[in-house]
Amino acid sequence: MKKILLPHQFYFPYLDVARDRVTKEKLDVFKASLAHSTRTRSLIYVHLPFCNSECSFCGFDKAYDLGGISPYIAALTSEIDYYAETPYAQGLKITGIHIGGGTPSILPEETLGSLIDTVRNRFRAARVPLNIECSPITLTDGMIDMLREKRISRVSVGVQTFDPLLRRYLNIRSSLNETYVALTRLKEAGIVTFVDIMYGFPDVGTGDQMARVLSDIREAIEIEVEGIDFSQYYPFHNPLSQRIREEALEFPTSEEMVTMILSASALMESEGYRQSTEYLFCRRGDILLEKAYFGASDCIAIGSGSLGLINGYKYKNSRYARYLKSETPAILSIRKLTGDELERIPIVGFPRLLRMPKDILSEQMKSRYREKLTKFIDVQLLEETPEEYLLTTKGKAFINNMYFMMMEKEEQQEVEEKLKILKLA
Ligand code: SF4
Repeated sequence: MKKILLPHQFYFPYLDVARDRVTKEKLDVFKASLAHSTRTRSLIYVHLPFCNSECSFCGFDKAYDLGGISPYIAALTSEIDYYAETPYAQGLKITGIHIGGGTPSILPEETLGSLIDTVRNRFRAARVPLNIECSPITLTDGMIDMLREKRISRVSVGVQTFDPLLRRYLNIRSSLNETYVALTRLKEAGIVTFVDIMYGFPDVGTGDQMARVLSDIREAIEIEVEGIDFSQYYPFHNPLSQRIREEALEFPTSEEMVTMILSASALMESEGYRQSTEYLFCRRGDILLEKAYFGASDCIAIGSGSLGLINGYKYKNSRYARYLKSETPAILSIRKLTGDELERIPIVGFPRLLRMPKDILSEQMKSRYREKLTKFIDVQLLEETPEEYLLTTKGKAFINNMYFMMMEKEEQQEVEEKLKILKLA
């Protein structure tokens, strides 16, 4: 089997931004649905697109116009108020809050602190875990003090690599020294810290990739971070992907990538970092976002470009420039999922969470998926216990292949036609 990689932001089922473009009628039906809740749990995702870096691997919805922070926070607050006041949200158990970006910590600390208070207060979610993404250069003493005072459950720091040559190639703005200082200060402040380490680049002339990846992981372990987000580079829709195409750089083969993943995983596991999702290895800390997107929970997504699931409606918000001009809620595309799609979200997505409890499978789903699950077991990607299906070590190197194979034929065709999939040789 050859390894494939789907976009990190692809969450089953597919939402076609053009075909599912919002209309006044669709929006009215969605808004009317918020008079009730058909779901029991939701995560809250808040997107802050502001950033002062131009990392070449990054394809997130970003904004460099820091003068836009005030109007953006005003739009965000009205969206928070809008959802929080609905009977839908009032009938829900909020499981956690994730603040992502962009670089949320680029906001002045008082602004970010007051936004955190607003989200917690408006959704009556003061005690749920709250995770936030930060870049080293923005983690000033004042910011770290604020994060500690607000009892943030986890800070994720975008490191990607400790290798100076590769950092330069990736155009990472924070210096290595700033990175070490930020990580040390977070540790001294007693804040649970995860770091992002990225792998899967083509040969960009910065040396042996396997050695680099293992050395990055050893370095993160030495700093005693509580978690490592070990993600494969997705080579589309970012500046680096264009350079890779122009220079005709070659990616590692499927076999090389599998060896790299398994060696890195073994190293992290041997040091007490348990693999909790496709890419998260941790000693402590809550896994919020992935459990919502691949589990059976809703996700109230607030802010530009974010992707949510509310009451059976999957939606994507407008990107930054349009978001600022839109009425609340600033939805760009929306689709009411079928009951079948909703039931299958945690079934199709289970490889990304590494396991599937058997009790989520109805009799009908058991017979529908029996052949696929048996095939996974036959080729040693999956093992079965009386209570659940678990990915094997080999399975953990082919998660996207399994995710893709769990979809129906027409769904696979749509994903193949509309999204870019990396297929390794
Ligand atoms: S990876 Fe983070 S810091 Fe780098 S450009 Fe993207 S949002 Fe900004």
